[in-house]
Amino acid sequence: MNEKLYELLETVQRTAVQVRGTAAGAAYGMGKKAEALLSVAKLRIRLANLEGSVDGCMMEIGEMLYATHTGDPTDSETLLAKLQEIDGLKAEINEVNAQIGRAQAASVCATCGAAVQAGDLFCRECGGKL
Ligand SMILES: [Zn+2]
Repeated sequence: MNEKLYELLETVQRTAVQVRGTAAGAAYGMGKKAEALLSVAKLRIRLANLEGSVDGCMMEIGEMLYATHTGDPTDSETLLAKLQEIDGLKAEINEVNAQIGRAQAASVCATCGAAVQAGDLFCRECGGKL
């Protein structure tokens, strides 16, 4: 295997535990934030944006690894920073998914926040599907 690529992958592996610790810390911090009951629609848009950002980071990492393979070594700090960015995004994705679950379980309209009654299929305020 390409020597520089091997070194880079070794560095990533060595820091794996540290990276996991950072992700757990980020998730903990976010869970403590005061939560506004956002609409499911808004949360889904946020989720899509976060997933798009993860895809972008994954592509950048792929380009870094390929550049290293072709003789233009990527600085391991740059790669690790990108990996940690993904950890942060993934933690945020988990949090948004949890918020969507709570919004759907709550007895309020996910669109406008109006109280809904058991058995309602549509919101009496905005007509949104429940
Ligand atoms: Zn409504």
